[in-house]
Amino acid sequence: MAHDRDHDEHDHDHGDHDHDHDHEDGPDEQERAERAAIRRHALAQIRQYPDVALRLKAHEVSEFDDDLRRLIERMEHLMVDAQGVGLAATQVGVLRRLFVFDPNEEGPCVVVNPRIVDPSKSRETDEEGCLSLQGVRVPVERSTSVTLEGKDANGADVQWKLEGLSARVVQHELDHLDGVLIIDRTDEENRKRALGVLRPQPVLR
Ligand SMILES: [Zn+2]
Repeated sequence: MAHDRDHDEHDHDHGDHDHDHDHEDGPDEQERAERAAIRRHALAQIRQYPDVALRLKAHEVSEFDDDLRRLIERMEHLMVDAQGVGLAATQVGVLRRLFVFDPNEEGPCVVVNPRIVDPSKSRETDEEGCLSLQGVRVPVERSTSVTLEGKDANGADVQWKLEGLSARVVQHELDHLDGVLIIDRTDEENRKRALGVLRPQPVLR
């Protein structure tokens, strides 16, 4: 998912935001440019709509080996560099059931063979973005709290009780493992608008 962390911070942190503007021409500007370049590089390694891998169903993981741990490490780096809050294996073209996410803003965590148990009946609609659907934000209805179960990188059981943004993120990422995208979960009007943004643009010569 592509909830922009900077954007979220600005919403809650107007004081610091204003302060930053006093020093706009200094290292901050350079740092922003570097972060933008790192983000573009990461996005170039993430499958973009309409890549076919985004529509395929991922398979259960049975081997918790070095190969899996290398994949997890790569996905964690990509998610951080792309400034996303979640990344599913299908988004890097790997059809295995795992995703990384950042449940408490303390760094990325992985869930292998994830499943959601007892999703709340209470549901809420909010805008979502996706690292594989650049330039698109659409309203999606999700359960407001969920329990997520699965395995860690070594095959040990993990369980997370999540609410708010984290609950939303894991429902979004689990969808990816079944080939489901936010444009499938939104209303017709927003879906059409999103498809307009995603339509390949003609190349100008
Ligand atoms: Zn996504």
